[in-house]
Amino acid sequence: MAVRPILKYDSPRLRMKSVRVKRIDPSIQSLIDDMIETMRSAEGIGLAAPQVGVLLRVIVAEYYEEEESEEPSQTVLINPEIVAKEGEWMAEEGCLSIPGYVGTVPRAERVTVKGRTRAGKDVRLKTNGILAHVLQHEIDHLDGVLYIDYLPSLDDLRKVEPGTRKRRGRRGAEDEDDVPEDEPTSEAEPRGAAENAQI
Ligand SMILES: [Zn+2]
Repeated sequence: MAVRPILKYDSPRLRMKSVRVKRIDPSIQSLIDDMIETMRSAEGIGLAAPQVGVLLRVIVAEYYEEEESEEPSQTVLINPEIVAKEGEWMAEEGCLSIPGYVGTVPRAERVTVKGRTRAGKDVRLKTNGILAHVLQHEIDHLDGVLYIDYLPSLDDLRKVEPGTRKRRGRRGAEDEDDVPEDEPTSEAEPRGAAENAQI
């Protein structure tokens, strides 16, 4: 396993469409291992192959469900496709390729995604919360789409300290975000939002 460099937003490769994986051979297995190691080393919770310069439809996600969780939940998908979307909310998200910033963009609340596991098994995931959010972001990467494309203007980006892979409780998030006590918190913040996490 090796940590690979993560391409930044101005790299033309991030704007290209990735191709489907035809055969899950040893090179794909080592790509997945490297992507997981790269994501962990960058403190991210998701990564798409084009972010390490490989234009193949492969994504990984790994995060802790709760701050106290011992083991992270990991998802690896080859040739993932969103087959159904439901609901909409405004999601705050960041990206390992655009470090230090977050923006608020529309995302579906629930998605059904089909794809293959690294063992070559066909899977269909119906999910909401943090995984639904990460999957939408990563699958966009496979089509050369970055979350900043959904913003009316780049002036809508906000500078932040990068998040960590451990989920923070609401209280911690409020303390860090400097939200005044008497101000109503955003109603568009369902459980499972990837708070300041880079994906
Ligand atoms: Zn990203």
